[in-house]
Amino acid sequence: MKPLLIVMSAPSGAGKSTLCDLLLQEFPEITYSVSCTTRAPRGEEEDGVDYFFLSKDEFARQERDGLLLESATVHGNRYGTPAGPVREAFAEGQSVLMDIDVVGAESVRRFVAGLPADDPLRAGFVDIFIEPPSLDELRKRLVGRGEDSPESIQVRLANAQGELDRAHEFTYRVVNDDLQVAYRRLRDILLVKGGEL
Ligand code: 5GP
Repeated sequence: MKPLLIVMSAPSGAGKSTLCDLLLQEFPEITYSVSCTTRAPRGEEEDGVDYFFLSKDEFARQERDGLLLESATVHGNRYGTPAGPVREAFAEGQSVLMDIDVVGAESVRRFVAGLPADDPLRAGFVDIFIEPPSLDELRKRLVGRGEDSPESIQVRLANAQGELDRAHEFTYRVVNDDLQVAYRRLRDILLVKGGEL
């Protein structure tokens, strides 16, 4: 597959992480972009694997030093994509998968649009929004996964509508009703974009 810069966004609980995991299992040539965040680790999350868990000061320093490709405040915490690993992966012919929010996706879209037309990051850019079948289903999934406090679930649901309102900004939209169907659609999008289909 030709190198792709894959940006995936979704309201929390739409199944994006599961879809990302399936992609990473099937395509070893895709590197997951590990984000920085100021939020505390959840469940089994590991520093350097799921996120780089930073203090607010350290996050601000990285931002100030221009080390982040994009950053945003999501559900009250700071999140950002380290720029170095994205460039390095591309230089090695790898694709990069970024799991970021709609604000971050907009920043990356703008960043990519400002690159020369022949820059591989621009040529390989693909943005996909994963949609839950409904807000009610989203609530059930968030409660069911048992990882977030009731307050956190409320914040995530309140933000979900705002994110869904921005789904039209994405080139592709995939409704995650049935996981296997959603995964096949996602895979086809990437294979077509990567020149394999
Ligand atoms: P969570 O706290 O559930 O892991 O993530 C909350 C939200 O932050 C998700 O929508 C996720 O996509 C987004 N997010 C994770 N990393 C980044 C990042 O580096 N930049 C931006 N803009 N959003 C991120």
